[in-house]
Amino acid sequence: MERILHALFAKHGPSDVSNRHYRKKRPEGEGRRTRSSAPLYCPFRISHSVILPKEFLLPEHNNNCRPCVDYLRISITDRCNQRCFYCMPHGDVPLFQHSEILTYEEILTVVTAAVKTGFRKFRLTGGEPLVRKNICELIRGIVAINGVEEVVLTTNGALLEKMAPALADAGLRRLNVSLDTLNPLKFRKITKSDNFYRVLRGIETARRVGLNPLKINMVVIGGVNDDEVEDFGRWAIKEALTVRFIEYMPIGCRHCWDAAKLVAVDAIRRRLERVATLQPLERRASDGPARRYRLGATEGEVGLIGAVSEHFCRFCNRLRLTPEGKLRPCLLSDEEIDVKIPLRAGCDERTLIDLIQTAVGAKAGHRAPDLRGEQRVRRSMSRIGG
Ligand code: SAM
Ligand code: SF4
Repeated sequence: MERILHALFAKHGPSDVSNRHYRKKRPEGEGRRTRSSAPLYCPFRISHSVILPKEFLLPEHNNNCRPCVDYLRISITDRCNQRCFYCMPHGDVPLFQHSEILTYEEILTVVTAAVKTGFRKFRLTGGEPLVRKNICELIRGIVAINGVEEVVLTTNGALLEKMAPALADAGLRRLNVSLDTLNPLKFRKITKSDNFYRVLRGIETARRVGLNPLKINMVVIGGVNDDEVEDFGRWAIKEALTVRFIEYMPIGCRHCWDAAKLVAVDAIRRRLERVATLQPLERRASDGPARRYRLGATEGEVGLIGAVSEHFCRFCNRLRLTPEGKLRPCLLSDEEIDVKIPLRAGCDERTLIDLIQTAVGAKAGHRAPDLRGEQRVRRSMSRIGG
């Protein structure tokens, strides 16, 4: 704790590079080409060709090279113990009934089908995933599924101090902790909570119990916290952390986002260059949309995620599952495929696999909308799972 606080207020203040290669698009004739029929429960019909290589489903795509879609982000709740103004802007946000959200058993059924579709990495998120009871049970269940390579989590960190040891024990590998400011007063303004020091202690505990490399997520918002980018860079150096700077996206709240608050990754990069030289790191398929840099010759690393200013569709390797059981092929598009209705109607695994393949296929050729104009994503991030 002392170390972290010292780093926070001191102004001067290696990651796993195992390469999962991008899968080259196969020439015609190689791999098994199949036409995915629109399944019974699909709310919209998507009909397109997909290529099934040996073990992964590889969507057809215009680019010569793209990662396979093998990463599922699962939002296990839309509830949260904070109220970040950019995510849950109104005090009283409508919440799903408990009966509406997928049970752990249902989630495990989807994960099992996803593994058979080629998914290997699973992230639990929310809302705040740590407020859902018995999350360790779910983690244990996912880890036990044959073929699952990694279970990770995104959290606001408020409950981490208490829960990190049990999470590690359940088989969680790594964590992303969201922290948008290093100033306790600003933290209260952003999150409407007094969790600042809890989050810092949570980060320290998580690292101590081996949930490494721990990544910090900072959403950079003009006029709110963009003046702290350099501080986060220094913190990354001092604590050998990875900080991921995320552009502020027009998601959920129709009125609170405006283009003037967008700080593009180019501007973030220029700020970080005042702290250290940015050494580009080789892109791994598992990086998804993040561009990674080492800070000078230090152990500090940063990732830049240009969700709005850059089109990163071709690097996107993920699907999302919402708390009430909708598969979302793209964060920035409101297209969804329901898996809860078929699940609760007792569908077989083949149907689930078809639905997942349809969602993967929907990514092919998809291009995210340009969000710098009037376009907004309707669902809030807490209901999608960021
Ligand atoms: N409650 C957890 C947390 O805060 O880490 C997990 C869910 S939260 C929705 C996941 C991530 O989405 C957080 O890093 C949050 O900062 C980010 N996020 C939420 N709304 C956003 C927005 N409008 N633009 C960019 N990132 C956003
Ligand atoms: Fe909660 Fe995370 Fe949204 Fe903040 S960003 S309100 S912590 S879900």
